[in-house]
Amino acid sequence: MPKIALITGVTGQDGAYLAELLLSKGYEVHGLVRRSSTSDVNTTRLKWLGIENDVHLVDGNLLDLSGLIRTIRDVKPDEVYNLAAQSFVKSSWQQPILTGEVTGLGVVHILEALRLERPQTRFYQASSSEMYGLIQEPQQSEMTPFYPRSPYAVAKLYGHWIAVNYRESYGMHASSGILFNHESPLRGIEFVTRKVTDGVARIKLSLAKELRLGNIDAKRDWGHSKDYVRAMWLMLQQDTPDDYVVATGRTTTVREMCAIAFAHAGLKIDDHLVIDPELFRPAEVDVLLGDPAKAREKLGWQAEIPLEDMIREMVDADLERYRAQGARA
Ligand code: NDP
Ligand code: GDP
Repeated sequence: MPKIALITGVTGQDGAYLAELLLSKGYEVHGLVRRSSTSDVNTTRLKWLGIENDVHLVDGNLLDLSGLIRTIRDVKPDEVYNLAAQSFVKSSWQQPILTGEVTGLGVVHILEALRLERPQTRFYQASSSEMYGLIQEPQQSEMTPFYPRSPYAVAKLYGHWIAVNYRESYGMHASSGILFNHESPLRGIEFVTRKVTDGVARIKLSLAKELRLGNIDAKRDWGHSKDYVRAMWLMLQQDTPDDYVVATGRTTTVREMCAIAFAHAGLKIDDHLVIDPELFRPAEVDVLLGDPAKAREKLGWQAEIPLEDMIREMVDADLERYRAQGARA
């Protein structure tokens, strides 16, 4: 019998790569999809990976508890990966309540559905390095205290602790992955890496002249989504549930990341980059740097794709997208 997995957020970046990984391991993969008037658009990432016909899509929303209970009853998953969220930090100041409801309370909805219907199911919660916010240690590990700096991070903190609490209260196999930023050609266009690689492609193809960014001195520990979904799966294969930092252990400024993208396209960064004060945030996370020692020791996991290779892959994918639409340099 193949193992059965349910992924919430299957239409997002990580959901798509995780579905691909689980299919390659012989899983039967189900994905929760919220209804929209453009259902052809929200499966774009699954189509890009060529797996849209291999994933069983279930209508549902993290805010709808009765629907989640029915889904768990019908699908009978062995593993649930809770990746659904309002995941963009900047939007969380515009939509703090929605972010709290989906990214925070949404987690207890799915945990309750599991507790009531299938408590033996293994559960993964997508926690975030944004929870470290105003960092309390230069390199953040599972032991570093949290200090969230956005409504998104505050909501993620609730999600993180409620997963820990259900593990401790009910003995559920709930693990929380504290993942540092991870990117890919499937990253949402609003996040800085993809905004940069898309912008560079547009400039290269004469579709734009400039790229406007906010705080380019911010530093992030960036990895590749393909590497990071492997860590999620490994967590649920352990006998004992636990929490793990997933990171590369290297931090880079937005400016340096940009320079890689511009250089790859043969462009000069100073000719095109414009700093726009409108794009600064009300509160910033200046620097993140993860310590992945525990994941390395206990899961045998480590990041394999370096930042330079990932950014070049993303620029090439964005150039290809525009060329497929008829753009010429
Ligand atoms: P995306 O923004 O690409 O995907 C988010 C997913 O959540 C989408 O499938 C979206 O559906 C779905 N979703 C949003 N609201 C609801 C809802 N109310 N009910 C059901 N589904 C909903 O995020 P990523 O793939 O990049 O990230 C996956 C998870 O990991 C998220 O929880 C994110 O916060 C977390 N994370 C991500 C990091 C990163 O660097 N990528 C770092 C640390 C944590 P739709 O397609 O309809 O919008
Ligand atoms: P985050 O770490 O989850 O907020 O991921 P983002 O990719 O959205 O942002 C990473 C960093 O890039 C943050 O410190 C942002 O302030 C900074 N940044 C600078 N300019 C921009 C921009 O134009 N868009 C985004 N999304 N981030 C920017």
